[in-house]
Amino acid sequence: MIETNSTCRMLFSGGLTINPDGRIVLCCVSTKKELGHISDIDNLNEFYNSSLLNEIRETMKSGFLPEDWCFSCINWRKNGERAAIDDWVKLVIKWNPDDVKYHTINFLEFAPSNICNQNCAMCGSVYSSKWVEWDNDALEDGLTFRFREDEQYVTNFHNQVWSISDKDLQKIYDILPNVKRINLKGGEPFADKRNYDLIRHCIKLDNPPLISATTNFSTIPNEIMDLICDYPKFLVGVSIDGTDKVYEWVRGASYQQTIDNCHTYMKKSGRSPIITSTPTLYTLYSLNDYMSEMKDLGFKALQFMWCASPKYVSVEAEENIEYYNEKHRKFLKTYDQVKVINPENLYKRKHDVNINTSHIKYWIEFMNKKRGFDIRQYVSELSKF
Ligand code: SF4
Repeated sequence: MIETNSTCRMLFSGGLTINPDGRIVLCCVSTKKELGHISDIDNLNEFYNSSLLNEIRETMKSGFLPEDWCFSCINWRKNGERAAIDDWVKLVIKWNPDDVKYHTINFLEFAPSNICNQNCAMCGSVYSSKWVEWDNDALEDGLTFRFREDEQYVTNFHNQVWSISDKDLQKIYDILPNVKRINLKGGEPFADKRNYDLIRHCIKLDNPPLISATTNFSTIPNEIMDLICDYPKFLVGVSIDGTDKVYEWVRGASYQQTIDNCHTYMKKSGRSPIITSTPTLYTLYSLNDYMSEMKDLGFKALQFMWCASPKYVSVEAEENIEYYNEKHRKFLKTYDQVKVINPENLYKRKHDVNINTSHIKYWIEFMNKKRGFDIRQYVSELSKF
């Protein structure tokens, strides 16, 4: 079968994404509708070949991306931006030219729970159990905008600790012998001990899948450090968005401890983690210094993400964003020795006039109260909001 502009590899030689609460979606950017729930499914490979998935394949084969499911990629392409279908999906999933009747899951992105040990300023209780209590506090403080920001199916607010049952987890184990790549999500992937068992299980398979996990690396027991250093194909991404007190305000963990854990990993494994940064309004103004520091610390790869939600933490609230786009573009020209992945996320942002600046202010004040210090002491540019 010939690959076309509309045959997303996720459907033809890829697999499924299972959210911490067991909802199955097409991929991590298909967030409006769920395909099903893992508890209602007996066999994940059978489900991947169900009439629902085959209908989506047929639409793609006829030359269209289905709007209900693939709205994110459709919009990215419309705006001239890199869409997931053209970008990372092609990097992580190989095209299979055989016109197969039965599609086997090769790629799996999942989290057994939303158990986390951090409550980052741009996160919420869907992805972090630590946010459950704070989301209630935010409600009590009258920050209702947080909970009806948009009509999207997946919002930042679910307010529950989620954990897939052992029975449902077994359904994932059942398909592992054929899986070639696992993206382990969270919560914090290393805060849920069931992931340790999963890694131990995978290492014994005839063909252990490549495992990729993005961790905050703030607390890493020796047991998991040894496991990931010994696993033959493990890609570690570490979320570090800023330095020192800015990092600590955004992520609520010790900056020095996280850096020390990275260096221990580098020493033991001989590999460098990919440092993953999600620029927000809080880190925007010091990104050049941040990049210099990551280089000085010896990291070899830096990846920039795109924080689209919630809007009140987005860099697109900055009305002079063009100035910062240009500043970062110039800086990148002189930045060497570190591989930069998705650099355009540093200079392709546009000012969004619809962002309510009072939400930005209320959110900074709420987080200041939680962290016990005022971020504006370290990021004076935030005082204008
Ligand atoms: S949203 Fe994009 S990446 Fe996801 S399945 Fe659709 S086309 Fe593929």
